[in-house]
Amino acid sequence: MKVLHGKVDIIISPDPSGESVGQLLKEAQGLIVRTATKVTRPMIESAPRLEVISRTGGGLDNVDIEAATGRNVVVCGVKGPQDRFVAEHAVTLIMALAKQIFYLNKEVRKGNFKSRYDYRPMGLAGKRVGVVGLGRIGRIVAEMCHHLGMEVWGYDPYLNPEDLHLPGLVFTKEREKIIGTSDFLSLHVPLSRETQGLIGKKELDLMKPTAFLINTSRGEIIDEPALIRALQQGKIAGAGLDVFAKEPPETSHPFFQMENVILTPHIGALTKDAVAQLAEGAAQNAIDVLEGRKPSYSINWDEVIRKKAK
Ligand code: NAD
Repeated sequence: MKVLHGKVDIIISPDPSGESVGQLLKEAQGLIVRTATKVTRPMIESAPRLEVISRTGGGLDNVDIEAATGRNVVVCGVKGPQDRFVAEHAVTLIMALAKQIFYLNKEVRKGNFKSRYDYRPMGLAGKRVGVVGLGRIGRIVAEMCHHLGMEVWGYDPYLNPEDLHLPGLVFTKEREKIIGTSDFLSLHVPLSRETQGLIGKKELDLMKPTAFLINTSRGEIIDEPALIRALQQGKIAGAGLDVFAKEPPETSHPFFQMENVILTPHIGALTKDAVAQLAEGAAQNAIDVLEGRKPSYSINWDEVIRKKAK
């Protein structure tokens, strides 16, 4: 609000639903959104004055980018402040699963101090972590896991190993191998048509029965019904999930009954340190576009500028 104040008229939607936001969008030149609002083609096409859609994060999957580009609307986001925090969250999930923190915490409170003889925790040194997607967050996860003494494998079909300078990284283009040999598989790819359902039944069948799946990227990257079945049938040992196909998940969701699954509420980026920076970044990006400047990160700025220049 401080960034926007005095520069634009601010209207706050009463709720994040497409209905409420779409109604207000009809008159707006800019839109700042978090994750709950799905910015759809009909919303964009009913907003003739719209110039910019600005996200308070790096993932732009809740915006119909094709529709926005078609209407010369710049879609931008904020990358940077949250990277390390999301990576820390993924590594925390790996460590909590390895050390069975949530199980042991519950048992101790029940008076079951003997849970120390269940011998559930495992060491991390020498265990293989497979990092799928070696972008901003995946690289930090890879580096952190290396410093934990883990064997770090990385898979990213869009990168050349020569461009990656990560200590101890085993870079592979063999997707099935990284999935089939990792003790911890951590997902760090953007959600797109290509990555939706990237981890489905076939991939879960390949995983070791002792392996854990960690997802701090986007829920739809995993075929959730397939994961539920794999967990129920003991095809993998457990999962650490910060993101879900539908957010928030229903409380009747099978995950809620599973002891081998750790759930957090899409909170990877939302540390006290990062939220203000993300909000400021999103507001500044919106102002920048409205005043004709390139935002800090945009998926279609170049294309929109090119089209406008024609
Ligand atoms: P990024 O764009 O920097 O990196 C993504 C990497 O994935 C790229 O290197 C790309 O080449 C690679 N990739 C694309 N398709 C792939 C595929 N099919 N297989 C393997 N690799 C592929 O993204 P980032 O900023 O590191 O973000 C990673 C994920 O984390 C995104 O899904 C983002 O939305 C999510 N995220 C979650 C939170 C949270 O709060 N949990 C916060 C920020 C970002």
